[in-house]
Amino acid sequence: MNAPQLDHSYADAFPELVHAAHAEEQPDPQLVVLNDDLARDLGFDPDWLRSAEGIQFLLGRGGNRTVAMGYAGHQFGQLSPQLGDGRALLLGEIDGRDLHTKGTGPTVFSRGGDGRGALGPMLREYLVSEAMHALGVPTTRALAVISTGRKIMRTGAVPGAVLVRTAASHLRIGTVQYTRLVSRDMDLTDRLCTYARQRHYPDLDTHDEFFSAVMDAQLSTVAQWMRLGFIHGVMNTDNTTLSGETIDYGPCAFLDRFDPATFFSSIDTHGRYAFRNQPAILGWNLARLAEAMVPLIDVETAQETMNSFPERWEKAQAAELARTLGTDDADIGRRWLEHLEVNAPDLTESHRLLNDDPDSISDAQWVADWRALDPQPMEHPFHIPRNHLLDAALRSAESGDLTDFHELLDAVTDPYSDHGVEFRGPAPEGFDDMFRTFCGT
Ligand code: AMP
Ligand code: MG
Repeated sequence: MNAPQLDHSYADAFPELVHAAHAEEQPDPQLVVLNDDLARDLGFDPDWLRSAEGIQFLLGRGGNRTVAMGYAGHQFGQLSPQLGDGRALLLGEIDGRDLHTKGTGPTVFSRGGDGRGALGPMLREYLVSEAMHALGVPTTRALAVISTGRKIMRTGAVPGAVLVRTAASHLRIGTVQYTRLVSRDMDLTDRLCTYARQRHYPDLDTHDEFFSAVMDAQLSTVAQWMRLGFIHGVMNTDNTTLSGETIDYGPCAFLDRFDPATFFSSIDTHGRYAFRNQPAILGWNLARLAEAMVPLIDVETAQETMNSFPERWEKAQAAELARTLGTDDADIGRRWLEHLEVNAPDLTESHRLLNDDPDSISDAQWVADWRALDPQPMEHPFHIPRNHLLDAALRSAESGDLTDFHELLDAVTDPYSDHGVEFRGPAPEGFDDMFRTFCGT
């Protein structure tokens, strides 16, 4: 097979927003994991991707045009006017989805970083994003992880790797913010928002509708995070997509016991991105999008749409709660959330009990009242990427043994089948108190 032809609609349309850039040569690239199903869905031949030529293609060195995308972003509330792909390249688009490789070496956006990725964090993104996809959450997908043969410096010398992923697009709130910093008139912002609308919401006609649609898409995604106990960890505006897909799996983690104040990220010193804050932070990020789009949307309309955010959040949350409980009874939903808050049980196991053994739920009155409502059948996962399991699997992978990684990957990408107790249940007592996640790794 010849190297696949990719489209370059974004790079063609927005020379102001991209920098032509080349992936560095890798000393000894080895394919660590390839997503055969996704490869076939995209029209790639997995066997060809495994060939030396295919690997060079995935590394961004297949001779096709590659660019680093510019974006800005509010990071922990502060505007960074120039972030951009400091260690990643857009290879192009296939079937309307971006193909993108992370860990390809320095670009004009690297700000002193080495532009590289470490094997552990790249495998982490691979596994968690594929788990999220299997759980039905809109997300970027992972196509491959390739070790580079390079040692890179982090807390010590660690093996380097690249991650190849696909996304509906890599356009973020931060991309719209960037257009305002790159250009003084609104033409660029207008074109970018039109491009994003046509690509992600082709049925819509106006910027007002586009802004509203981004809000709905993100609300639905974040409501699903909240149902599953997912903590993104770094909800900066550069990590909030216009498509609604979850992106950037650096410091993310799932909570075990239901403690809404939980956060794990080592750089999130004040818990800005703690589990319970995620809906409010999304609202804050959308307000930054509105600001960047005014006057494409007029101030009053932007304000009105923002004012509808709390009500839309209630709706999105109620929909997820109804999915959890098999009933949209508001009172039973409120009492369930109270049960979780008061007893702080393991969230995933509590959901499974609703399927498997409701009588063992401690609030017998709630169970009786819930049963009386004759709930619809519910679908709850057996498996999420548990922090302690993923941590252990990545440690083994870093020392060359991928057995645990593949077993865990099998479980979390088939989460509605029971793969055994070893992949279920919370971390041992005390683990979460010590557990920290890292981004930009
Ligand atoms: P993230 O925390 O992954 O959202 O990254 C925030 C910004 O830091 C983005 O502009 C990244 O491209 C950049 N960045 C993260 N790690 C590196 C690295 N090792 N070298 C260069 N830039 C990086
Ligand atoms: Mg990012």
